[in-house]
Amino acid sequence: MPEPLDRFLAFAPPLMGEGEMAEVVDTLKSGWLTTGPKTERFELALAEFLGSGRGLAVNSCTAALHLGLNVLNVGPGQGVLTSPLTFASTAHVIRYQNARPYLADIEPDTGNLSPRAARRFLTQECLSGPEGRPVHRQTGDIMTTLLPVHYGGHPVDLAAFWELAVEFNLNILEDAAHAIGASWQGRPIGHRALKPPAAAHLQGLTAFSFYATKNMTTGEGGYLTGSDDQLVEAARVRSMYGISDSRRIWGRYAPRGTWVYDVAELGFKYNMMDIQAALGLRQLGRLPDFIRRRAAHADTYDQALAGLEELVNRPVTRPGVSPAWHLYPLRLRPGALKVSRDEFIEILRDHNLGTSVLFIPLHYHSYYRNTLNYREGDFPEAENFFKNLINLPMAPAHAPEDIARAAELLAGLLAQYRR
Ligand SMILES: *Cc1c(COP(=O)(O)O)cnc(C)c1O
Repeated sequence: MPEPLDRFLAFAPPLMGEGEMAEVVDTLKSGWLTTGPKTERFELALAEFLGSGRGLAVNSCTAALHLGLNVLNVGPGQGVLTSPLTFASTAHVIRYQNARPYLADIEPDTGNLSPRAARRFLTQECLSGPEGRPVHRQTGDIMTTLLPVHYGGHPVDLAAFWELAVEFNLNILEDAAHAIGASWQGRPIGHRALKPPAAAHLQGLTAFSFYATKNMTTGEGGYLTGSDDQLVEAARVRSMYGISDSRRIWGRYAPRGTWVYDVAELGFKYNMMDIQAALGLRQLGRLPDFIRRRAAHADTYDQALAGLEELVNRPVTRPGVSPAWHLYPLRLRPGALKVSRDEFIEILRDHNLGTSVLFIPLHYHSYYRNTLNYREGDFPEAENFFKNLINLPMAPAHAPEDIARAAELLAGLLAQYRR
């Protein structure tokens, strides 16, 4: 019988060093706490890292996604197509804009929204409407936006989604909450050149998360970038109440600041603080190393779990993809164990192994059960993925030896509870 780990291995602890601490202290001593020079530096550093135009740092990925839909003018009577295997945030922002989330099933291997299922939705559940945009047969909503999620940091098939976007005249907002540090066809997710020339007339936006458990963190934080600088600048105005020159708000107390400002639009309070940007600047410098550590953890699990009958398959990496390894989604073979998935999670916890289940499908939550016309059975791939899913610790804060022991423990427990 496998021995428990000698101490609890948390699912996703952050990794903070002296550099982050010094940078935050520097900010605290500078007298400039909220949006200011470090936020600007952080935005420029991210733009360089991603190969994007200057983006907008905000206080969460949820804020970035919301601003994205807001500047795309998504509103009532419109539909946004997204994945059922995501966090509530992805669909909530659609509701904030009084538009309606529509779901299509996932690919069973990556957990990403399936371009084939998306096409089926756009052609079979919709009719062709104005400007070539699909109109939902039952609701009459006009589909305007695709919102794919790079699940676990494995990029979606962007070529397939841009092909759909061009064919059906749709914009794309990528939920890249897991995908900072991932690349597709040799370019970072968020890179300008990932949008093909054929889509020049369409908008492409990408939202990242710096929440405490994500690939790099500012505690809470997010970033919105896109192919059109003007659109990002529109989002900047709306991230600060709609004050037309948002530099004024943070330049207001500087020697040459002015008290004059104009509120030109109904904006939000979504700006990032310099305290957060201080963390972000140092975390970004360490991101390549963080991703290497995650990839090494994935290798360790792959090797320890290779060929085990109790597992459906190990996470895949598609050709041309360099994943960020935000998650390691382990999938139990249905019926292979004497205990249920939920019981097995308890057993792992009793052996000091912290895990999670990301995500409970959107249409299982009571809010979305009550507001969308979906029911269990509508998205069999997403439902199967969820029912047999356990996400393993992948954090760069974990030592390789700790992950090796966790992998060994897991293999031992799978053998012990084999039916
Ligand atoms: C974490 C997460 C978000 C939200 O990020 P916040 O920064 O916490 O707002 C959105 N989508 C997905 C897929 C996430 O995992």
